[in-house]
Amino acid sequence: MSEARVGLVIEDDQDIRELVRTVLTQAGFEVTVASSGHEGVLAAKTLNPDVITLDLGLPDIDGFEVSRQIREFSDAYIVMLTARADELDTLIGLESGADDYLTKPFRPRELRARIAAMMRRPRSLPDQADSVPGTDQPVDAAATATGDGTYSHNGLDLSYASRSVTVDGSELNLTRTEFELLYALLEAGRTVRTKSDLVRRLRDEDYDVGSYISEADERSVEVHMGNLRKKLGDSPQRPRWLQTVRGVGYRLAPAER
Ligand code: CA
Repeated sequence: MSEARVGLVIEDDQDIRELVRTVLTQAGFEVTVASSGHEGVLAAKTLNPDVITLDLGLPDIDGFEVSRQIREFSDAYIVMLTARADELDTLIGLESGADDYLTKPFRPRELRARIAAMMRRPRSLPDQADSVPGTDQPVDAAATATGDGTYSHNGLDLSYASRSVTVDGSELNLTRTEFELLYALLEAGRTVRTKSDLVRRLRDEDYDVGSYISEADERSVEVHMGNLRKKLGDSPQRPRWLQTVRGVGYRLAPAER
């Protein structure tokens, strides 16, 4: 944590661009801004930023395409900013490669909280023990936990340290959000995690802080869960891993005998 973190703001609206620049600067980032998609992709190549905020509606190429191009060479955290709440579902469903989404107008402190949460998650290989959470395993956990952030459940193996997930031996390519959700459920065992719990988990808040959770936040967890389920090849009717508890949230399916 010695060198300064680099932030890149890709946004054509000057007011929002300056707002986001301020938020990132206050959060300790060295910030560069770009006002078009092409400019943004170039800047991402040159700067190797840690965090990128990306406007969906840009004058030249849209945020999806920008995200796709950036993902070809960068592992930066990408927060997509969208102007319309009703676009959110479609957005998340399209697996744009973004790590998080925020609807405009947003509160600066919300953006700051999202970015702080992302930065607390390990990008790839963490510095071992102290960055591996999950020391408070429920006693009746359905998954086999080895105490070092590694879980095995019904043919699925997850390692927090290497951020890897395999199903029946084949490696899956999950987004950070999907990984985090799966990890939260494995960690909870057969205890139900409500959608609010999971929203807070993604924000890296404690489960019981009582911060505001919107319907869009919960909906976004549902969509991420749907994507995760698809990638796992899991069935909602006869789940091997992700069991929906109707109207409440999710928990791990029972261990197969
Ligand atoms: Ca725009």
